[in-house]
Amino acid sequence: MSKNILILPGDGIGPEIVHEAVKVLATLRDHHGLDVELDEALVGGAAYDAAGHPLPEATLALAREADAILLGAVGGPKWEPLEISVRPEKGLLGLRSELGLFANLRPAILYPQLADASTLKPEVVSGLDIMIVRELTGGIYFGQPRGVRELENGEREGFNTLVYRESEIERIMKVAMEIAGKRGGRVCSVDKANVLECTELWREVAIRIGRDHPEIELSHMYVDNAAMQLVRAPKQFDVMVTTNMFGDILSDCAAMLTGSIGMLPSASLDENGRGMYEPIHGSAPDIAGQGVANPLATILSVAMMLRYSLNEGELADRVERAVEQVLDDGLRTPDILSPGATEVGTEAMGDAVVTALLQDPGHH
Ligand code: NAD
Repeated sequence: MSKNILILPGDGIGPEIVHEAVKVLATLRDHHGLDVELDEALVGGAAYDAAGHPLPEATLALAREADAILLGAVGGPKWEPLEISVRPEKGLLGLRSELGLFANLRPAILYPQLADASTLKPEVVSGLDIMIVRELTGGIYFGQPRGVRELENGEREGFNTLVYRESEIERIMKVAMEIAGKRGGRVCSVDKANVLECTELWREVAIRIGRDHPEIELSHMYVDNAAMQLVRAPKQFDVMVTTNMFGDILSDCAAMLTGSIGMLPSASLDENGRGMYEPIHGSAPDIAGQGVANPLATILSVAMMLRYSLNEGELADRVERAVEQVLDDGLRTPDILSPGATEVGTEAMGDAVVTALLQDPGHH
């Protein structure tokens, strides 16, 4: 049966990079038997301008119907003066919570061709391939009670609550185990079980779920050590799974190990494997409209979509091979440019990936 993909270009460079990723999807549809239908809708600032809300009802309705969503990016200086409830970012947060996207998958991959882009020594990061699985809809970012209250002496006190139910921990652990099964077979669960009772429970549940997956090697690490190890010897990790806040911080740290924000995709999945796929970078207003944005993070988001929501692992491999091919050919957008490489713009990069896909000998 044909799968439904909703395309949400968003703001800034969003439409430019998504355009290239859609070319890749269309190539897979027309030449590799991918059975998909594509719909497009507005989100973010573009949706506010057209419909007065960053997540219009019509967009949400299409999102609920979709098997997968491809999002560019939202936001920009134009919408910063708006009231918080209608800012572009609300479109994203709304989609995550309305669709129950609790598992955020953030790979940090450093292609050997780009090892120079990292601020770390090439031998520490070259060939890096980590997957961080971050819990996205619970923990301290959502826990109640929260707020700022005034004490009797007139001093103000801010408070938030770190709270996880066993069922929330179980489902994110299962996602991590399943992903590790498709990769290196190792999961490192990151917590602060020595200080926080909530993450003591996290560790207990991790161990329990780990028993159901004897083929996976499960380890545990305190978050402070995990931060150190990510910078010291990041290649020791395969899959890391952690809470919303720890994952927020560690995944940005891991992303920066690669030094190339324009290369990193992400996925946010619900309980049934339906998901939203997007580059980790923002709408880059500083380069929007210039045709120089790197579309590879968005194209690699398509590869994740194929693997995790469309059950097309082989096509995902093809897309990733095509991206490696264009890097091998020395093509670089300005953000990843190095001496001796060939500088190309957004569209030429997208075209090169499409050509590499069509020339892949595995092509039927
Ligand atoms: P950003 O990621 O948009 O840009 C940071 C820097 O990286 C900029 O110099 C930008 O030019 C560069 N960059 C980002 N993506 C690139 C690409 N594909 N190719 C080449 N260079 C790229 O972060 P920011 O500047 O902090 O935020 C800009 C806007 O994006 C803000 O409105 C912010 O709220 C929004 N934002 C949106 C998302 C999202 O939609 N998921 C995420 C982060 C920020």
